[in-house]
Amino acid sequence: MRREIIMRLRPLLAVIPALTIWLSAAPMIGEATTDAGRPPNIVLIYADDLGYGDLGTYGARGYRTPHLDRMAAEGTRLTSFYVAQAVCSASRAALLTGCYPNRIGINGALDHRSNYGIDSGETTIAEALRTRGYATAIFGKWHLGHHPAFLPTRHGFDEYYGLPYSNDMWPNHPVTKNYYPELPLIEGEKVIALNPDQSQLTTTYTERAVSFIERHRERPFFLYLPHSMPHVPLFVSDKFRGRTERGLYGDVIEEIDWSVGQILATLQRQGLDRQTLVIFTSDNGPWLPYGNHAGTTAGLREGKGTAWEGGVRVPFIARWPGRIPAGRVVREPAMTIDILPTLAKLAGVASSSARPIDGLDAWPTISGNRRAKTAHDAFYFYWLGELHAVRSGKWKLHLPHPYRHLASTGSDGRPGKDETLQAEMALYDLEQDPVEHVNVAAGRPEVVRQLLSLAERARADLGDSLTRRQPTNARPPGRL
Ligand code: MG
Repeated sequence: MRREIIMRLRPLLAVIPALTIWLSAAPMIGEATTDAGRPPNIVLIYADDLGYGDLGTYGARGYRTPHLDRMAAEGTRLTSFYVAQAVCSASRAALLTGCYPNRIGINGALDHRSNYGIDSGETTIAEALRTRGYATAIFGKWHLGHHPAFLPTRHGFDEYYGLPYSNDMWPNHPVTKNYYPELPLIEGEKVIALNPDQSQLTTTYTERAVSFIERHRERPFFLYLPHSMPHVPLFVSDKFRGRTERGLYGDVIEEIDWSVGQILATLQRQGLDRQTLVIFTSDNGPWLPYGNHAGTTAGLREGKGTAWEGGVRVPFIARWPGRIPAGRVVREPAMTIDILPTLAKLAGVASSSARPIDGLDAWPTISGNRRAKTAHDAFYFYWLGELHAVRSGKWKLHLPHPYRHLASTGSDGRPGKDETLQAEMALYDLEQDPVEHVNVAAGRPEVVRQLLSLAERARADLGDSLTRRQPTNARPPGRL
């Protein structure tokens, strides 16, 4: 009955731009239970500032990622997976709530002065899965508000250990020395150390993750592992220091890869392989001004902080033996906003949020179906409140917008400089031209018109400060 109502509502929902009610991700009972007859465990690993070209299977050179390569060989790898906004807080807001960041008032990167954070009325993945009896934990970087009201323990997570924001927000920042206070390390809601030894972060997060899996063998769990690395300042433990040709950046990635290996080995040891979906992705592209301390885009244009492919396209690997076929590579686009509805459906989450979200179930794509088609007619790329680009099918239209362009490269932890350039309206065929080099707008006026009308829908819904449009369906963040 409920399903029928939803099916009838679908055409209606489709006319509301970029706006879907979570009900449309209602469970198909029986579709997602594991061999053990219970909803799957979820492990979601989120690297920080790791670029599209930074893993072996995506072309990395100068170091090795054997565990992630194996994960890809045993699962599915996406080649057009996007973050919703190429910066830390906004990206995490989208991942955890299924919403474009500006829909829920979290843009850019929060810091120690931010008196706002994720609103208590938004539903996170952890809160959604909890309704199905999941144990939940986050070990790593939160970045959705550092005041107690906004911490993970108030937003669906049973356990939290990690940094409240970025690891460069500390007194040793290379440019703004002594601007930031001492960096807190938090357990639960308590600060347990200031300026912790960052060379131990990856190891400690991993040890906590392994212990969490071991302690929750008997019930479904959601483990969220947002690494602080490879965001600058780069730190690595003794086990990995000096191992790679690529230098410290390569060492750091090899340690993250080791961490993935530890997780996979633990799942196997506990007999949980076939009951666990493991996802690995990144929050945004490389922070290019950091030069040898930044990742690579595999040739995609620009990097972190932009709506060009180098900023928003990231690696994505999903592994679930028995449910996801081995060795698939899928190029259909999907976005972080799709993760919540996909996981909610897999877990049979029946409840719905009264608040509309933007993401849609992407299971056909994530599970390696090469013929899968995204249910989105468009993906929108905002920078703060500015609508910079729209992707529909293979086409991406950049609207006129300012953007960061690398002007000079720094090294060894000191950044170079960005300059601001102005992009003109340009249409790219991402299948032929993923590096956004050849503007084909002049020869494709009908495609430009179509993408402009999609952009107009987004503006009417979420606003666009570049064309002075106010949002009509944006919600404020939580405030102190
Ligand atoms: Mg980041």
